[in-house]
Amino acid sequence: ERVISPEQQPDDNRMDSTLRPEKLEYYVGQERVKKKLSIFIQAACERNEALDHVLLYGPPGLGKTTLAHIISREMNVNLHTTSGPAIERPGDLASILTNLSDKDILFIDEIHRLNPVVEEVLYPAMEDFGLDLMIGKGPSARSVRIDLSHFTLVGATTKIGRLSSPLRDRFGVINRLGFYSDKELSEIVKRSARILEIEVSPEGAAEIARRARGTPRVANRLLRRIRDFAQVEAEGTITGEVVTKALELMEIDEKGLDRIDHRLLETIINKFSGGPVGLKTIAAAINEDSSTIEEVYEPYLLQLGFLKRTSQGREATPAAYKHMNIDLPEEMKS
Ligand code: ADP
Repeated sequence: ERVISPEQQPDDNRMDSTLRPEKLEYYVGQERVKKKLSIFIQAACERNEALDHVLLYGPPGLGKTTLAHIISREMNVNLHTTSGPAIERPGDLASILTNLSDKDILFIDEIHRLNPVVEEVLYPAMEDFGLDLMIGKGPSARSVRIDLSHFTLVGATTKIGRLSSPLRDRFGVINRLGFYSDKELSEIVKRSARILEIEVSPEGAAEIARRARGTPRVANRLLRRIRDFAQVEAEGTITGEVVTKALELMEIDEKGLDRIDHRLLETIINKFSGGPVGLKTIAAAINEDSSTIEEVYEPYLLQLGFLKRTSQGREATPAAYKHMNIDLPEEMKS
């Protein structure tokens, strides 16, 4: 498993919940999102109403699930958690919906993976807080409407483009989460270190932040892995030097790129003369799944400005050549 993968890995589960900030004020960064949400939450509370449905989108590990938890705490209501692929049939969703109380939060992760038949049930539920049930079969079948509690749906997705527009249009609040700055990540590392009782120097925290790919989950995972290293090799404290050495051992470079990122960039540069080259061709060449490349590896390489997406495919930028220590071809020098 990749140390720097932004996706949740089996042993992250406990770490993720231990390190989750519980209030908006402890949630680092994403200032605009926080500001908007705090106003909407306050207004809803003052009117004693449910919050509008909220859609959160952005790459994995940036704090979507955490925000859903925070919203339920700030609203002082229950949180029910599920995910798109977990709701297989309309009946599954119906039983979830009928169990909600007023103002409760229903969090659906990976909402772009909802079955279309299930999605149909969600529309009237979101819009009118109603559920249309078919009773009986054949000619005597009739539909009855059941009233639902006024709940709030918080949907999360890494792929906003995969969401159908009728579903997207039913969210009152749509927020994009972006990558975190090194400064914000360093704050997150220090906070996590305090909770986990790990000693980390300011340089150590900054060094972890620089290599965390803009992603809190990666920062926390690096902190945990490097802790073992510091304990065995450096009397417990995570210093800048400890981070550098540990990551060298883990084959993670100073920008947080690992062997797979290197292979991806090298392939585009060496095998396809820097591109443009199609995603499927790259996937076949490095023997990786193309949607994993697109959803997991690429976003950070794009953010760093190492890759460009064009209509003809992916291109490596001069910055990528430089990072990989490969001479720029003549035609790219101008
Ligand atoms: P997502 O749902 O977007 O995949 P999560 O909400 O599960 O991401 O976040 C992963 C981990 O990163 C959480 O355990 C949390 O500790 C940490 N985290 C995410 N965002 C923040 C933040 N803004 N401030 C502090 N920690 C954060």
